[in-house]
Amino acid sequence: MKTKLLPLAVAFLFSSLVQAAPPKNVILMMIDGVRWQEIFDTPMIAFPPYGAITGNVRKAQAMTVANPVNISLPAYQSIMAGATQPCRTNDCGRIGVETLEERLVRELRLAPTQVATIASWENIKFAVEHREGSTFVNAGQVALDDGTGDPELERLNREQAAAGQRWEACRNDELTFAQALRYLKANRPRFLYISLNDTDEWAHAGDFAKYAAQIRQSGAWLRQLLDTLATMGEYGANTTLLLTTDHGRGTGDRWHGHGDWAPESKYVWLYSTDDTATRVHTHADIRGAIERIFGLKPLRQGRRGD
Ligand SMILES: [Zn+2]
Repeated sequence: MKTKLLPLAVAFLFSSLVQAAPPKNVILMMIDGVRWQEIFDTPMIAFPPYGAITGNVRKAQAMTVANPVNISLPAYQSIMAGATQPCRTNDCGRIGVETLEERLVRELRLAPTQVATIASWENIKFAVEHREGSTFVNAGQVALDDGTGDPELERLNREQAAAGQRWEACRNDELTFAQALRYLKANRPRFLYISLNDTDEWAHAGDFAKYAAQIRQSGAWLRQLLDTLATMGEYGANTTLLLTTDHGRGTGDRWHGHGDWAPESKYVWLYSTDDTATRVHTHADIRGAIERIFGLKPLRQGRRGD
């Protein structure tokens, strides 16, 4: 027996040596316009006891946006470019440089469905691709089609079509999250960007109770994502999750708004299950943190056209 076992053992050792390390995956979830005060002063999200969070202004861990206007689309574009972009309003149109998502498809040689954006706000499509169709994007009140013909997907699309839109140009967050969770389980993407919106809308509407409730709901979704990853074996074990926001808000009676008129709305925060990914100072550093997880050299896509 021993003489037969030895070659087997050698073969096993060899196969485990040539087997590549399991691929890394990243889920980036964003909630719109949630202040650091709601995260640190009145902790509305119960973060897991592992990973790390940065952005506590009171502890000199300030993290800021990487645009001068404290507005959504300029922020989303700077995150995906890893650098400030010329965009200054929510109507600036499509990003002009290769995004994080596009680089992942190109350099890791992935199918576009392996790099997915599922967003509540339709303008998110202008932040994640400089060439339309290079990744998988489902943004706004649009039926999702990933080619799976999944009956659960058909059901979600019907539910979505029947639901009203609480805000113009947006799909309701609960539908965006349900679509993203199904997409995660069905496609096991290498990169999934879940972009939510309702928090900012409730704040603009001046309804603090609903703003707070939506932040708590987003925390429950974060935990649901982690619970789901825990059921997904090696894929889940090799997936890093990040949660952040696109801008803060004003203080005092200016809490409902944000912009260059409220300089304090530049402050943001970031949680990650991988504490090395929270060594960031601005939005422009997030791309590099994600690229490092994938073993890529960080790129900053400069201010072309600015
Ligand atoms: Zn806003």
